[in-house]
Amino acid sequence: MAVFRDLAALRHWRQGLRGSLALVPTMGNLHEGHLSLVRLAQTRADHVLVSIYVNPLQFGRGEDFAAYPRTLDQDLAKLQEAGCNAIFTPDDSVMYPRGKRDLSLVMPARSLSKVLCGAHRPGHFAGVCTVVAKLLHMSQPQLLVLGEKDYQQYRVLQRMATDLDLPVQVVAGPTQRAADGLALSSRNRYLSPDERSLAPRIFAALRELAQSHGAMAADLAASAAASLVQAGIAVEYLEFRAEDDLRALSRVEAGGRWFIAARLGGTRLIDNVGV
Ligand code: AMP
Repeated sequence: MAVFRDLAALRHWRQGLRGSLALVPTMGNLHEGHLSLVRLAQTRADHVLVSIYVNPLQFGRGEDFAAYPRTLDQDLAKLQEAGCNAIFTPDDSVMYPRGKRDLSLVMPARSLSKVLCGAHRPGHFAGVCTVVAKLLHMSQPQLLVLGEKDYQQYRVLQRMATDLDLPVQVVAGPTQRAADGLALSSRNRYLSPDERSLAPRIFAALRELAQSHGAMAADLAASAAASLVQAGIAVEYLEFRAEDDLRALSRVEAGGRWFIAARLGGTRLIDNVGV
C-alpha cells in the first residue's frame, strides 16, 4: 500500500496507473462505515485511493476542528488490512500552500447547501466542495465514493460534479450502524456513557417516522422532536425532504427522506433514513 504525503508523489503514481480509480475521501479515525466504502469502491474500480485529511475549511468557529480525533497509524493498519491500494495524507501546506484566507472557493448550489446542516453551519459545504474539488483534480478518479450517513453532502457534491462538468461518477454507500442502531461516526467517541445509551433513540425515532406513509411531515416531526427533547436530546432540525433535490415535502411519501441533527451534551450527531 502506497502512502503519499505530497502532491508530486501522488501525481507520479496516478500517471503510471492502468485501469480505473475510485477515491474515498475521509477525515480519518476510520471505522466500519469508512471501510464499507472502501469495499464498495473495490467492487467498482480497479484501484482504490483513500484520502485522510481533517479539512479546516469545513469547520466553523467553535466547532471541533482542534479536538477531532487523529489516529493515522491505526487508520493505515485498517486500510492495509482492507487491501487499499494507496493513501493520500496531505497536511495544510500541501492542501492550502498559499493559506486559507485568500483562497478560490467552490460555491455549492444554494438550494442544496443552505438547508438542513447548511442552515446551521455557514460555509461548511463551501469548505467541503472546495477540498473535494481539489482532491478530485489531484487524483483524477473515475469514481467518487461517499457515505449516505452524510446524505446532504453526497447530494451537494454530486451536483458540484454535474455543474462543474467534472468527469467523475458520484456514488453513495449505505450507513453502517452499531448493533443498537446508532450510525457509526468518529464523533461518537465524544459521548459519555449516559449519552451513548441515549443516542440510539435518534435512529429509532427516524425509523418510526419513516413508517408513517401519508401523514403530514411537520406534525410528525414536531411530536417526535418533543419526545427526543424530553429524553435529553436537543434537536437542531428534524425535516422530511426529497432525496433527489432536498426540497421540503409536506407528506411522508416514497422518494423522501427524514433528516436529523441533534446534540447530546456538546456532541452534534446527524442521521437520515429513507422512506
Ligand atoms: P468523514 O471521515 O466523517 O468525513 O467521512 C468520510 C466518508 O465516510 C463520508 O463520505 C461519510 O459519509 C462516510 N461515512 C461516515 N460514517 C459512515 C457510516 N456510518 N456509514 C457509511 N459511511 C459513512
